Amino acid sequence: MESFGHVIGGVEVPSVDGRTFESVDPWERAPWATVSLGSAVDAQRAVDAAREAFDHGPWPRMGFVERGRLLHRLADLIEEHGDELALADTTDMGKPLAETSGHDVPRSAQNFRFFADHARLTPAEVFPMPTGHHAYTRYEPVGVVAAIAPWNFQLMMETWKVAPALAWGNTVVLKPAEQTPASATILARLAIEAGLPPGVLNVVHGYGPDSVGQALTESPQVDRITFTGESTTGRTIARAAAANLTPVSLELGGKGANLVFADADLDQAVEWSIKAIFSNSGQVCLAGSRLYVQRPVLEEFLERFARAADALRIGDPKDPETRVGPLSSQEHFETVSGYLDVARADGARLHTGGLGDGWTVRPSIVVDAAQDARVTQEEIFGPVVVVIGFDTEEEAVELANDTPYGLNAMVFTRDLARAHRVSAALDVGTVWTNCFFVRDLRAPFGGAKHSGVGREGGTYSREFFTEPKAVVMEIAPA
Ligand code: NAD
Repeated sequence: MESFGHVIGGVEVPSVDGRTFESVDPWERAPWATVSLGSAVDAQRAVDAAREAFDHGPWPRMGFVERGRLLHRLADLIEEHGDELALADTTDMGKPLAETSGHDVPRSAQNFRFFADHARLTPAEVFPMPTGHHAYTRYEPVGVVAAIAPWNFQLMMETWKVAPALAWGNTVVLKPAEQTPASATILARLAIEAGLPPGVLNVVHGYGPDSVGQALTESPQVDRITFTGESTTGRTIARAAAANLTPVSLELGGKGANLVFADADLDQAVEWSIKAIFSNSGQVCLAGSRLYVQRPVLEEFLERFARAADALRIGDPKDPETRVGPLSSQEHFETVSGYLDVARADGARLHTGGLGDGWTVRPSIVVDAAQDARVTQEEIFGPVVVVIGFDTEEEAVELANDTPYGLNAMVFTRDLARAHRVSAALDVGTVWTNCFFVRDLRAPFGGAKHSGVGREGGTYSREFFTEPKAVVMEIAPA
């Protein structure tokens, strides 16, 4: 068994009360690591360490060049330890190694490189005033940031939060999801090796309610909370943060609509639609889990889509050829398989798919589901997609917008004017046209409606992780 502790004040430590829990490998369906189980006491220790490092340590006072050098060094170490990190994420939650090593780990290093450079290269705004004064903006670090992460893109989402927070001079307490603790401890070990001062990046393991997560969101010494996870958890966190007026950034659930118009390149649409719903076994907030296809091509699309879904290799996520691994835990497997029963009970039909071995669910395509059925409306967070036909562009937009979520949508069409029209009409944070998951880290990322509050990425992360201050100087008195 491997062992992962908290990292507080630059040292890997056990919980004060010595408690631990086990992290389960969902492919082997057996524990593989022992992890320190934190409590509110451990959360407070980490907040104290972060507070001390912010109030008296060198990190917020360091120039962007020196801080950037250390963050680039951390990115180098992530790349050097790429195999270890990818294997940790794959073992913790069953995501195929092809995705953790091919995407998540490189993107995690890139998160540090991008935000280090972005902070260093950001110019200050200057407003020359007709009175003979100049106003300029300073982006002050805010203090201690609590980062609370989900289990589905653990290292990638953690670094998406930690990197901009650190680049702008803050200190961080990171709480990874209890299902996927390993890579956060490895990241914090690498941060020590990179030379980040003690207390700048702290990691505390534990649960959410009545545990580390709740303690962090209720702490008056925390200055920002960045959270990614379920919409219901987001509501709880927003309520806790309100007591201290702590600003929150919430990246929440989704039920992405994928619109395939009859004029689309169907090969392209099938290829991206497969990635959009079956990558990471559909455990993706951005998953294209509602597939609306214009009726003239519905039958042909469905046939090709089902063939491609059936061809995906299911199995051991540590095998580099595997495309669909198990669901992340027994509990989640039961939730997702329960939705297959819900679909049937609601009068829908499974076109292909169903249960696989162990905790795997085969790529599953549901047809004949009503727009208001639970499978069409609720986030299943598994490899289950609902396919529904439509006739007109107006109808497609109406169906796409008809859920409480608004994270993202995809549009497949060769008609440029339509692509722009539909993108404008969709009530979501991101629209991908003729592609999926292609990201520019400068662009805003976040959700509309119940999919989130606020945006992160580029200047949007700067707005959240800094306190912009106006300084007004008399230059030449009138
Ligand atoms: P979750 O909400 O169950 O847990 C997320 C994190 O919050 C975990 O670390 C958990 O311990 C913690 N937590 C739970 N209750 C808490 C509380 N009361 N106070 C403080 N912390 C608490 O989510 P999950 O199951 O880990 O992740 C899956 C969800 O995340 C899905 O809904 C998915 O769509 C969403 N997600 C969204 C994005 C995005 O960018 N919008 C990205 C990835 C995942």
